[in-house]
Amino acid sequence: MKCPFCGYKESKVVDSRPADEGSSIRRRRECLQCEKRFTTYETVESLPMVVIKKDGSRQSFDRTKILRGIERSCEKRPVSVAEMERMASEIEQELQNSLDREISTEVIGEKVMEKLKGVDEVAYVRFASVYRQFKDIDTFMSELSKLLNEK
Ligand SMILES: [Zn+2]
Repeated sequence: MKCPFCGYKESKVVDSRPADEGSSIRRRRECLQCEKRFTTYETVESLPMVVIKKDGSRQSFDRTKILRGIERSCEKRPVSVAEMERMASEIEQELQNSLDREISTEVIGEKVMEKLKGVDEVAYVRFASVYRQFKDIDTFMSELSKLLNEK
């Protein structure tokens, strides 16, 4: 990291602390030549994930699709929006942590089922019965909304 004052390449870290709720680290550095201090930020690069659909096509991972699937399954059920958000975030986090950059829609569906099972039995059955049949989140979404509209 070049010194912004004199351009010298070597510096030492004099202080280091988490910033942005732990998602980055702020470092105070001191130039070994001019001894002036400057700040750098270090962040984790979040890698993009690709979702592979049943027909083999690919699309970039979209958290809102998971959230919408959860919302539809939980329609008229005593599940709060915060709880649904939490489930979607947990699923996204678990997928990020798996380090697999290519995820099948099947894996996502299984995860949604896992979460719903622990939260609301009816929502889980709704999701599972439709999802197991179609194994594809897009088809699932349209079929599920049809089912809910019929009732
Ligand atoms: Zn310097």
